[in-house]
Amino acid sequence: MISSQIQIASYLFASILFILSLGGLSSQESAKKGVLYGIIGMIIAIVSTVLGEGVHGHIYIIVAIAIASLIGVAVARKVEMTAMPQLVAILHSFVGLAAVLVGFGSYLDPHTQELTGTLKNIHYVEIFIGVFIGAITFTGSVIAWGKLEGRIRSKPLIYPGRHLVNIVLVLFCIVLCVLFISAPGTTGMVFLIVMTVISCFIGIMLVMAIGGADMPVVVSMLNSYSGWAAAAAGFMLGNDLLIVTGALVGSSGAILSIIMCEAMNRSFWSVIFGGFGDAPKGEAMQVTGEVTATDHEAVAELLKEAKKVVVVPGYGMAVAKAQYPIFEMVERLQKNGTAVHFGIHPVAGRLPGHMNVLLAEANVPYDIVLEMEEVNEDMDETDVVLVVGANDIVNPGAENDPNSPIYGMPVIQVWNAGKVIVMKRSMATGYAGVQNPLFFKDNTDMLYGDAKDSVLKINGHLS
Ligand code: NDP
Repeated sequence: MISSQIQIASYLFASILFILSLGGLSSQESAKKGVLYGIIGMIIAIVSTVLGEGVHGHIYIIVAIAIASLIGVAVARKVEMTAMPQLVAILHSFVGLAAVLVGFGSYLDPHTQELTGTLKNIHYVEIFIGVFIGAITFTGSVIAWGKLEGRIRSKPLIYPGRHLVNIVLVLFCIVLCVLFISAPGTTGMVFLIVMTVISCFIGIMLVMAIGGADMPVVVSMLNSYSGWAAAAAGFMLGNDLLIVTGALVGSSGAILSIIMCEAMNRSFWSVIFGGFGDAPKGEAMQVTGEVTATDHEAVAELLKEAKKVVVVPGYGMAVAKAQYPIFEMVERLQKNGTAVHFGIHPVAGRLPGHMNVLLAEANVPYDIVLEMEEVNEDMDETDVVLVVGANDIVNPGAENDPNSPIYGMPVIQVWNAGKVIVMKRSMATGYAGVQNPLFFKDNTDMLYGDAKDSVLKINGHLS
C-alpha cells in the first residue's frame, strides 16, 4: 500500500513521462525514446493505482493483468505490419467499451447512490457523457476494424436525411440525460441503457457513412474519441492520471485528424459528420490510352542510366514486405552515383506514418525520405519513379476528375517524371476502389508481380 501523497507524486511523474513520450514520437530519431518513456510512465501508473488506498482484491487484479499481458504479447508478436491499423482500431474499441462498463459500474456503486445535490448531478452527467462517448467509440471502432479488415465494404453507406436523424438522436439523448439525473435510486438505469443503444447506433452510422479514401481521418478521429472516453472514465473514477492521459490522447488525436484532413484537402467537419455533400455528382471520367508492361531486366537498365530516381511506396510494399530489398536496391544505385529519394504521401498505406515505420524498420536513413511536397517540387527533373505497391496516392484523377471519390486529395505527381514504373500484381484498384489513369499514360510501364519478388529480380540484374 502507498499513501495518497506518493500516489499523487507518481501520477504527476507518469503524466510528465507521457508528455515526453508524445514529444519523442514527433520525430523518427527520438521515437524509440518516446516509446520507452511511455512504457515507463504506464508501469508507474498501473503500479501506483493498484497499490493505492481503497483498492482491494489485488490477487484478481494481478491475475487479470497477467492474462491480459499474455494476450497482448501474443497478439503483438503475431500481427503483420499490414494488419496494424485493424489492431489499432479494435484496441480503440476496447477503450470505448471500458468507458461504458466503468459508467455502468460507477452508477451502481453504493457510494454514487449516497451522493446528493450538485455533487450527485455532476457525477451523473459525467457518467452519462462517459457512456455516450464510450459507446460511440466502441461501435465506431468495430466498424472501422471491419472496413480496414475488408469485412465491411469501404463504400460509404449514405441515406437521405442521415444528418437530421443523427441530430434528433443526440437531442433525444440530452432529454434522456435530464431524466437520468432526476430518476431516484438506480431507476435511471433504463435511460442509461436506452442512451447506450442510441449512441452505439450513432457510432455505427457515423463510420459507415465515411468512404474508403477518408478512412485515415476516421482512424485518427477514433484515436481521439478513445482518449476522451478514457478522460471521461477518469472523471467517473476520480482518477486524475486517467483524466490527464485521456486528454493527451484526445487532443493529440484531434490534432492528427486535422493534419490528416489538411493532407487530404478535406473539411474536418465534413469527414466527422460522415461526408457532408461529399458524394460525387456524376460518372467518373473515362480512362483513355493503352497499358504497357515491362520486365525486370528493362527496369534494371533504366535505373542504371538514371541520374535521379524517386521511390514511391504504398500499401503494396507493406503487403509484400519489400522494404528490405528496396533499400538494397537503393544502396546499389547510390554506389552507381544515382541520387535516390523516397517520396512519402501522408496517407500512404493504412496508418498515419505507415511507410515511415516500414522504411525505418529496414534502416533507410531519414535524410533520403522526403515528403510529398518536396518530391513534387523536383518531379520534372526526375528520370525514373518507381511506384511500389501504391495506387490511390499517385492517381491523377484526384487532380483532374471532379467525379472521382478522391478528387481534391493532393497526390504525388509521378507522371511529371521522365519515366514511371508501377510495380503491382494486376490492374486492380486501390483502397478507394477507383481506376487509376496513371497506368494508361505514355510514360508509364507496368511491372506486374509481387513487389518484393520484382525488386529482388531487379537487384539480380543490377549486380
Ligand atoms: P492503395 O490501397 O491505393 O493501393 C495499394 C496497391 O498495392 C493495390 O492497388 C494493389 O494492387 C497493390 N498491392 C497489394 N499487394 C501487393 C503486393 N504483394 N505486391 C505489389 N503490389 C501489391 O494504397 P496507397 O498506399 O496508394 O493508398 C492508401 C489508401 O488507403 C488511400 O486511399 C488512403 O486514403 C487509404 N487509407 C489510408 C490510411 C492511412 O492512415 N494511411 C488508413 C485507411 C485507409 P494489386 O492488387 O494489383 O497488386
